[in-house]
Amino acid sequence: MILKFHSETPIVLGYNRSCIYDLPRQKYDFVPNEVINTLRDNINCNISDLNNRLDNNDKIWLKFLIENEYCFLVPDFFIDSFPEINFKWESPANITNAIIDLDNLECERNFKYFEEINCKHILLRFVKNYSADEIVNFLFSTFNDLTFKSVEVVLPFNLKSNKKNNHIIFKKIIDNIEQVTSIKFFEEKIETDIFTPYLSVNIGIYTEALLKNVYFNGKIYIESKGNIKNGIETKEILGNFFKIKNSQHLIKKIKNSKLWGICKDQIDVCKDCEFRYMCIDNRVPQERNNGSFYYKSECSYNPYISKWKGELGYLSLNESGILLNDENCFVDYKKVNEINKSIWSDKI
Ligand code: SF4
Repeated sequence: MILKFHSETPIVLGYNRSCIYDLPRQKYDFVPNEVINTLRDNINCNISDLNNRLDNNDKIWLKFLIENEYCFLVPDFFIDSFPEINFKWESPANITNAIIDLDNLECERNFKYFEEINCKHILLRFVKNYSADEIVNFLFSTFNDLTFKSVEVVLPFNLKSNKKNNHIIFKKIIDNIEQVTSIKFFEEKIETDIFTPYLSVNIGIYTEALLKNVYFNGKIYIESKGNIKNGIETKEILGNFFKIKNSQHLIKKIKNSKLWGICKDQIDVCKDCEFRYMCIDNRVPQERNNGSFYYKSECSYNPYISKWKGELGYLSLNESGILLNDENCFVDYKKVNEINKSIWSDKI
């Protein structure tokens, strides 16, 4: 019998530990880097030889990996029967999500462009107060003959302070416009210095994250005055929607955004994190003069010591020996390794 790893449970090495992504089950587990390196060195190895090469700790982990179906044993003659999965990411849509701000419902916006380029998800933010009839008429005349997978509507008032009116609008939209999949009320975001990522394990995000920036890739934001941007968070203006001549023209404009292709493997700190192919991160990567990338705000996860802010033993990047600024990223390996020894030596 020989040892094999499942292709659909890729292992992502982080600085301090590895993460196994169970793509079909959409969950993950952690394994020490040393164990993964030892097992990888012994792939396709006969189980009796393997047992001689592993220490007790490795054997415990191997048992865990087999029990959780990350690895399996097969007869020797099946050695070539399990080809690797091709994780090349491809999408039928150039733009997948569009956010559009509306402060003048009279202005003509050609939503057909989005349909033509196979964009499936539209989020409309009404940035001024409108009556229920105005909103319903606008939505009906705009989306009546268009097909999107989801049309989300964001309205600009507080549900609690205007309950009755909101309820009328809510009901009118739901009763009259089939295309609308959700209605939300705009809430001011509270700015913080620390960023908390959203993690999601699935084959779509995994494959996209190998090459692209999962948050900005295929996204477009159109301000109420027509300025085209990559996202609400970005400053660069890529064109004006009211001057767009056709859907190909729109694609040309948005493809000028460099952010689409800046994946986590190119960004300091994240490139050392085991969550980097499941992490959805709306921070805008900053480019240094030397072409490297970093984020201005710090993530609430420190991948060098595998600790989340608030957990026992958490230290910020700076406190754990990582100096990150607009010129450089310096890792004090000696300091980080000593910290990890004190936190983790008897745990992983
Ligand atoms: S360090 Fe980067 S990749 Fe890791 S969780 Fe934070 S934002 Fe995501």
